[in-house]
Amino acid sequence: MPKEITTLVTFFGATGDLAKRKLYPSVYNLYKKGFLVEHFGILGTSRAELSTKQFQVMVHDSIKEFMNEEAPQDFLKHFDYQRADITTPEDYAPLKALIEEMDEKFALKGNRIFYMSVAPRFFGTVAKLLKSEGLLSENGEFNRLMIEKPFGSDYETAEKLNNELSHAFSEDQVYRIDHYLGKEMVQNIAALRFGNPMFTKSWNRDSIDNIQVTLSETLGVEDRAGYYDTAGALRDMIQNHTMQIVGWLAMDEPATWTDRDIRIAKNAAFNSLKIYTPDEVAENFVRGQYGPNAIGTQVGYLDEKDVPADSQNNTFVAGKLQFDSYRWQGVPFYIRTGKRLAAKTTRIDIVFKKDYNLFDSNQPLSNDVLTIIIDPEGRIEYKIAAKATTAEFKTRPITLKWKASDEDKAQTPEPYERMIHDTMDGNGSNFADWNGVAVAWKFVDAVQSAWDSVHQDFPNYVSGTMGPAASDELLEREDREWIYKG
Ligand code: NAD
Repeated sequence: MPKEITTLVTFFGATGDLAKRKLYPSVYNLYKKGFLVEHFGILGTSRAELSTKQFQVMVHDSIKEFMNEEAPQDFLKHFDYQRADITTPEDYAPLKALIEEMDEKFALKGNRIFYMSVAPRFFGTVAKLLKSEGLLSENGEFNRLMIEKPFGSDYETAEKLNNELSHAFSEDQVYRIDHYLGKEMVQNIAALRFGNPMFTKSWNRDSIDNIQVTLSETLGVEDRAGYYDTAGALRDMIQNHTMQIVGWLAMDEPATWTDRDIRIAKNAAFNSLKIYTPDEVAENFVRGQYGPNAIGTQVGYLDEKDVPADSQNNTFVAGKLQFDSYRWQGVPFYIRTGKRLAAKTTRIDIVFKKDYNLFDSNQPLSNDVLTIIIDPEGRIEYKIAAKATTAEFKTRPITLKWKASDEDKAQTPEPYERMIHDTMDGNGSNFADWNGVAVAWKFVDAVQSAWDSVHQDFPNYVSGTMGPAASDELLEREDREWIYKG
């Protein structure tokens, strides 16, 4: 039986795209599954003037549009709305009054979640005003804050934002969303690593040669140049999603499976990440920017709408991470991400060390590889050595394969549903904590500032390939290669 959750959730940005596409459908799923029954209230607020009825119709219509389902009135009656300009302190009084009214109406025990589905420049202001205007409950079990990305645009802005939040919320009340952490196959990393003695025992420098994480996209910048040209692949994909995936791969076994101990274990790994000097950045990191595709039907980045003709922005990043720890001494973590690459996929390749071939010392064994495919669909593949079907006793690589079934997919919660549920449940295991975010920014800032001081000739890769030649060379130099070739 699902555990019924008692809480009020206030959605700031209630008329926005994210709320309609993801948040209301997620709340509806939690209702259908029995996590939300009687004692829940959903308060929407934004700049738009809407009556309660109009808001309920909007929620109904978004569930219809994105789930093709009719939400019943029994569900919709838990939704209410209050217009507010979130930068105006006076606008918080009516919000507070409605929160208190809903609290009483649905018997919510003063439990409160505030979800900031608004532009990042508002995050700090809202947190401050929630506290100063008295919207945090004093007698409930919890006040929690869910916060959208991006969390700052470099270490300095992230630290400033974190300080602003910490005036109103303590670290364990802040749920920083990274939707990659809500993905089923990212959560599967821990099950694979720690649920199989064979992998648990070999997940270290004795057995692993290198680890590769690839997040590749086929799309170009589309209409997001305004944001993307200031962020690039480094800040848009490496600082957050890639680093959070690396956290699960690099951590030691937590003392217990509580969110607190998981964070402690992950942070020990993050804190051992080597931050590079400019020379080390040049040695260990590659940046790219896409040009037209081979047949000339797609323009290069510099010819995209709203991109400055002399942009030095990176649309591709490949690099090597090094952890100064007993477990990972000498084991490179190669990461790469980019736009307009050969295929859309998110995957991890764990490359095991080659061993002496005791069957034929002239014929080296190939590396065993454990592959975890996160997107576009969940798959696990394990390439191992087995006997070749010839008269001689020789080996050949074979691949064991598993893929998520239709039933698996149907019952897998969407990342947003899982994150809203986990916040209601007070489980921060799959959210980014401040220490991890801070280390990732320090690392990424070091790379960006080294790049800022050196001009690079762009474009340097053809759309529809797996990035610049320098990305392959990064591994070839060390007698390695990318397992995934697109
Ligand atoms: P949006 O522009 O569609 O909606 C913004 C909302 O904020 C609207 O409801 C608007 O009324 C409200 N708003 C703006 N200024 C306000 C003010 N002064 N006072 C009160 N309300 C105000 O934005 P979105 O796409 O829904 O994104 C919201 C957040 O989620 C952003 O932080 C974004 O980075 C993040 N995000 C969005 C998506 C997505 O798929 N849309 C995905 C990941 C993260």
